[in-house]
Amino acid sequence: MSRLHLKSNPTLADIQQYVRDMEAERGFEDSHISQNCLFLVEEVGELIKSIRKSHLGLRNDPAKHYDENTAGEIADILIFLVTIANRLTIDIEKAFREKEEVNKQRTWQ
Ligand SMILES: [Mg+2]
Repeated sequence: MSRLHLKSNPTLADIQQYVRDMEAERGFEDSHISQNCLFLVEEVGELIKSIRKSHLGLRNDPAKHYDENTAGEIADILIFLVTIANRLTIDIEKAFREKEEVNKQRTWQ
C-alpha cells in the first residue's frame, strides 16, 4: 500500500518532494542520473510516438485533442525531469524564474 499523496494545487516544490518520496518508496533513490537521463529520452520517444499515432487518426476518442496515453507520457517525462533536477538539487521553480528573466531580455525572431 502506497503512502504517497500529492496535495491539491501542488507547487513545483511539492512535486519535487513527491517524486523524492516516490523514489524512496519504490527503492529508486540510488538510481544513477545517467540512467534517469536515458529514461527521460525514452519517455520523450514514447510521447512523440503517441502523438504521431494520434495524428494518423488512431486516436481512441476522435472528439479529444489527445489520447490518455499521450497525457500519461507527458506525466512520465515530468517524473524523470523532476528526478534529474532532484539528483542535482535544482529548485525547478527558481531555475524556471531565473531562466525566464534571461529569456525576457532576448530578442525573439
Ligand atoms: Mg511512458
